[in-house]
Amino acid sequence: MKATMRFSPQDFISFLKERKIQRFFIAYDHEEKQIKVSHPDLDFIRQSFSNDSRDYAEHEGVFVQVSKKFDILHAAFVHRSLRGQAAGGTRFWIYDTIEDFFRDGLRLSKGMTHKNALAGLWWGGGKGVITRDPKINVKNPAIRKQIFQEYGDFVTSLQGCYITAEDVGTVTEDIGHIFDRTRFVICIPEEVGGSGNPSAKTAEGTIRGMESALHFMNGSTLEGKSVAVQGLGNVGRFTLQFLFEKGVSHVIATDISEEVVQQAKKQFSGQPFEASVVPRGDNSVLFQNVDIVAPCATGGILNQETIPQLKASLVCGAANNQLEDPEKDDRRLFDRGILYVPDFLVNRMGIVYCANEQYGYVTNDPLINQHLSDDWEYSIYRMTQKVLEKSKTQGKPAGVVAIELADELSFQLHPIHQARGRQIIQSLITNVWQKSI
Ligand code: NAD
Repeated sequence: MKATMRFSPQDFISFLKERKIQRFFIAYDHEEKQIKVSHPDLDFIRQSFSNDSRDYAEHEGVFVQVSKKFDILHAAFVHRSLRGQAAGGTRFWIYDTIEDFFRDGLRLSKGMTHKNALAGLWWGGGKGVITRDPKINVKNPAIRKQIFQEYGDFVTSLQGCYITAEDVGTVTEDIGHIFDRTRFVICIPEEVGGSGNPSAKTAEGTIRGMESALHFMNGSTLEGKSVAVQGLGNVGRFTLQFLFEKGVSHVIATDISEEVVQQAKKQFSGQPFEASVVPRGDNSVLFQNVDIVAPCATGGILNQETIPQLKASLVCGAANNQLEDPEKDDRRLFDRGILYVPDFLVNRMGIVYCANEQYGYVTNDPLINQHLSDDWEYSIYRMTQKVLEKSKTQGKPAGVVAIELADELSFQLHPIHQARGRQIIQSLITNVWQKSI
């Protein structure tokens, strides 16, 4: 069988098993300026990375292992670790092809480099991915425990170049199972010292982004503004609560869940609020005649089809990866004169809240609250001002400017540990990590 990126994860696992490959890596050699792969049979992956200028960006290391217990892949993508160990959650997801699997990990880990750097965190950017085998019953708690404990062993083997956390497809209990086997994990359960649900802070961050953008646009505030909110989940509902506290004139919201809409109607009865249930994939709430649109549900909702229909002059929400095509859609919004506050700038509180949990907790924690302040250089408010000002003066879309700023910051060396992440990767390679199982 000729190896290709169109392999399904299952076919790829069979291919690896036939060659007795349990672990492999693809790493960037910064001295020789080339991508290296641990096994010659996997050179097709190296070739695919080197032809991919969109998602691949000299990622320091991509580490993959085949589970000993299930037909699933465990992976850690380390994009850049100069500001600190590469931190980012682990996604547990079904992929049709290994190309989709690698692309997701490459893209998301790069995104974490940007999010962490722009937040002024001393962390690099990384992402974990576990491929879900559709045949496995992942609702079975005993199976989940095995999957995540084994993933914890895998993370331990990486000696701390990657720090994992919760992401799409994982819940706090899974993170607890990872924590059974590794110290290199954050967002652990509260009972064992974790920081708990960050959604209220994420909503507060989103509100700060809106306030900063309004100030930039015309010196106005949220008072009297109308807002459309997509999604009434954890972040959506807190966003609504804060919007009403700020005196908005009207909120229109949608969710795909009847139960969630009913809960919100009850919670906000008496407020100037309308909510309706929509079918999955319905984006009509984005086209409302309002001042601000706040996507707080799924990604990919700002695209060629939806952007021309927007009526609001500001888009600022917590949903991850709102732009379906980051380059083109950012430009489309800019060309229409719509201010877009990049999602990775305003929704940072999810990672900020748990990133430094090993340093302990303080009531009204200044380390957390500085992100929500007006005056700290890296606060959401100040960074939004900076991005929008540069976007205007340089004539570039806000997303492009935010990524440029983040990229620049991501090359700053951690003040104490310097380029330790890269040193760890180097020692994994020297010690033949791929054989140490
Ligand atoms: P959640 O699952 O609690 O809520 C999402 C809600 O969106 C659900 O109620 C769901 O039914 C609804 N929804 C899905 N598709 C919809 C559609 N087409 N129209 C309307 N509603 C729809 O998730 P959350 O924690 O509130 O997170 C919301 C978004 O913010 C996600 O994209 C998440 O990745 C991002 N985010 C969250 C945090 C956090 O602290 N929770 C941090 C950073 C980013």
